[in-house]
This record gives sequence, C-alpha cells and structure tokens, in this order.
Amino acid sequence: MSTEYDNFVGGEWLPSDDGETFTVRNPAATDEIVSRYQRSTEEDVDAAVAAAAAAQPDWAAMPGPERGAILRRTGELLAERKQSLVTTLTTEEGKTTAEATPEVQRAIDIFHYYAEKARDFDGTVKAASGRDKTLHTRKEPMGVAALVTPWNYPIAIPAWKLAPALATGNAVVIKPASEAPSLVRAIVDCLDEAGLPAGVVNFLTGSGSEIGGPLVSHDDVDVVSFTGSTRVGTTVYEQSVADGKRAQCEMGGKNPAVVLPSADIDEAVEVVGAGAFGVTGQACTATSRAIVHEEVYEEFVAGIVDHAQEITVGDGLDGADMGPQVSESELDGTLQYINIAQDEGARLAAGGSRLDEGDHADGHYVEPTVFADVETGMRIAQEEVFGPVLAVIPVSDFDEAVSVANDSEYGLSASVLTDSLSEAERFSRQIETGVVKVNEKTTGLELHVPFGGVKQSSTNTYREQGDAGLEFFTTTKTIYTN
Ligand code: NAD
Repeated sequence: MSTEYDNFVGGEWLPSDDGETFTVRNPAATDEIVSRYQRSTEEDVDAAVAAAAAAQPDWAAMPGPERGAILRRTGELLAERKQSLVTTLTTEEGKTTAEATPEVQRAIDIFHYYAEKARDFDGTVKAASGRDKTLHTRKEPMGVAALVTPWNYPIAIPAWKLAPALATGNAVVIKPASEAPSLVRAIVDCLDEAGLPAGVVNFLTGSGSEIGGPLVSHDDVDVVSFTGSTRVGTTVYEQSVADGKRAQCEMGGKNPAVVLPSADIDEAVEVVGAGAFGVTGQACTATSRAIVHEEVYEEFVAGIVDHAQEITVGDGLDGADMGPQVSESELDGTLQYINIAQDEGARLAAGGSRLDEGDHADGHYVEPTVFADVETGMRIAQEEVFGPVLAVIPVSDFDEAVSVANDSEYGLSASVLTDSLSEAERFSRQIETGVVKVNEKTTGLELHVPFGGVKQSSTNTYREQGDAGLEFFTTTKTIYTN
C-alpha cells in the first residue's frame, strides 16, 4: 500500500498536468513502495513559477517579524511530527534512526534560527557627508528562487535553503530529488499550516532531467540554489547564469583526513571511521581518503579494518549501525569502484562485497570497505564514490600529506588528526577546501557558520547557512536622503 502525493502550486495540492507518477521504494526492502509522486512537466514548472511570482511582492512587503513568526510556527509543527519524519526519512533514504533523528532536529533548528533572523536582518545606517542628509542600506529579496535538492540529506538541505529564502521575502519553487521527496512535502505541509500565504512556496516533483532545466533557466526565476553532483551542478550553473540569474551550486567531494604521528591513533580511527561509514558514506563531506603518515600507517590500517568489520549493516529501523545505499544505481556505482580499485592494485583490507542474503536479501547493502596501499593517482583516490569506501594512502611527511590531500579536483571538507597546534594551523592554511576540521570528522556541520566548497565542489560564488544564507537570497539597496 502506498499513498500518492500531489504537487503544491499556488497554495493547492494538485496532480501534475499530465497525470503521470513515479514510485519511491524503501532501500532496505525494495519491494516496498513507500509513496508515489507526480512526474511533473514543463507546464507544471510554468504554473509554479507564475504562482511564486504573483505571491512574492506581498510576501516581501510583510514585516520581517511576521514572516519570522510563520517560520517559527513551521519549526514547531515539524517538532510535533518529529518521530514520524524520522521514520519516513529512514524508510525512504535508508539512514539509521540514530542518523535520521539529528537530521530532522537540524531542520527544526534551522527554521527557528532563521525565524529569529527574519526579525532583524536588514541594512545598516551609515554616517552621511552632509548635515541634513541620511544614508542607509536596505536588504531586499531577490524575487523568485528555484531550489533543487539531493536525496542524501532530504530534510536538512531543503531546510537550509527554504528558511533563509523565505525569511528574506523570496517566493520559492522547490524540486526535491526523486529518491526521497517526502521530507520536503512535509516541510511544505507545515509551512502551509503555519499560515504561509498561497503561492509563496511551491513544490514540484519529477525527473531532474525533464523539469530541472526548465526550472533553473525559467525567465521569471531570479535566483537558483542547487545541491547535488558536480556533473549536474555544472550544467545547472551554466543554464542559470546564462541570462544573468544569481546561482550557487554545492556539489561533490573527495574529502581527506590526514593522520599525523602525534595523533591518538585510537581516536583517529574513530574519527575517520565515523566520517567514512556514517550515513553509509553518502555524504558530500564523507571521508573518502585517509592520508596517513608512515610512522603510524600499520597501526592505523589495523585499527580502521577492525572498526569497519565491527559495523553492523541492516535496516536503519532495526538498530543497525549502517543502513543501505539509497538505490540500486548508487549501490552499483559503489561496487564498480570496488572492482576498479582492485584492478588498479589497491589492497582490499576490509569489506568489498555486496550483502544480499538472509536479512539483507531485499536491500541495497554493501559492506563497509577499506582499501590500503592506495596511490594518489588511482581513480579510487580521485573520484567520488558516494558509498562506504575508504582509500588509505601512506605518506612520509607533513608536506607530502598536504600535497596528496590537495591532489584532487574537489575541495569541500578536510580534517587533520594531530596533537600539534602548529601542524593544525599550517594544515588549515594550506588545505584547499571550504571547510577544515581539526581532530574532528569531515562530516557534520553547525547551522550558523558558512558552508561551501572550492574547486569542483562548489561554484564558490556564495556560501550557505548562517548569515551567508541570507546574503545569497538578498540584494543591497543604498538610499541617500537629503
Ligand atoms: P544529482 O546531481 O543527481 O541530483 C540533485 C538534484 O538535481 C535532484 O533533485 C535531481 O533531480 C536534480 N537534477 C538532475 N538532473 C538535473 C538537471 N539536468 N537539471 C536540473 N536538476 C537536475 O545528485 P544526487 O544524487 O541527488 O546527490 C548526490 C550528490 O550530491 C553527490 O555528488 C554529493 O556529493 C552531492 N552533495 C553535495 C552537497 C554539498 O553541499 N556540497 C551536499 C549533499 C550532496
């Protein structure tokens, strides 16, 4: 049994223009259809953008504190539904309950955070060069925002785009990934119930390749925020900036953790293991390369192999440590990289196999996998796998560690494990990433500081989260009064 859900356009839940739907399956039990959603068309995109454009001026004219009150109420409604949202997240995307719970809480916190920001985010008064003059700036919304989101954090990422866009007076059309659209539907439901005026948020589901392009290049869209793969994000950026839209694309990663001899190796194993195998390795910030000083290399490899082998894999609702991959195609991608790494000559030290018997028979399961003796030029050390696979690379000194860490087309998150303040400081200056962690895993973010990458991990135009999220969705007007 599964429920069919509609789009939300102009304040009404409506089926798609041509009535086609697609199914969403449970990655832990693939014969279980969780829900059905609309396969939207270009006509649906036009209707959603028109609804947003019509609603935006009144929403922008509403005083910030009133907009904030609606966001605060949305956060409260999400909190009331927290338990069922956690279950939905697990059954659609595969995260364990222990991983889904803080993600849902993060979405709640984001709505409360931007509710407060809506109260006082505006321009500043400046001293004017004349006795009878005033000079001030005002923050104004960009207009209509198109938000395109991935499946891997299906509530946190949409929340960190929706809340600042709405707080600053933009109207929105949001298209979630087809693997896990229900959490965005739940946010939209709460926004509606919290009193958001009709048309201010519009929700469309469907194929990215069919409606993504028409949405991000639509003439009446002013600002585009995308999170997803580098392949798609690069196209989205080109399409959206071609006619002068403001755009921000946050994309893939190949995140290194550097382990230096002064580190506590037991702790380093825990930190790297959590970054590599947490959320089944399906995080843009997942640790996918451990770059380890030769003095502690053997000890680290032995520790991380034990760590990987102790992880229980199973349905996230049943208390397993690690859930399934989200889809057959993501699992296939991981298995292909496992083969590629072996062909390249990397040493398979742990895992490496699909799990498809007994309790695992119906899910997209793979073992937590460690490759040792990896060389930086290998594809397993260069390309994003997006599964629970760690490549361990030996290095002989600090400078080589930094150089290997920077030998990547990506630049999202990096971590260094060391007991030396000076190594930590040098690493944080020399590493080419948008986020650096010292003695912490590459995954995990705070909501009130900027987040984003460099190189192929981001268009690096703007940052997300914190005040950076507000800046992205606004423009500054300067007012001279005599
Ligand atoms: P994806 O690029 O396949 O899809 C992302 C979104 O884009 C989906 O909603 C999809 O339907 C849509 N889309 C697909 N084709 C499109 C097109 N031609 N035009 C417009 N939209 C289109 O990514 P995914 O598989 O959902 O997510 C995994 C990827 O996201 C990984 O590469 C991961 O590193 C990245 N990611 C990055 C961050 C970050 O903040 N840097 C965060 C999470 C995930």
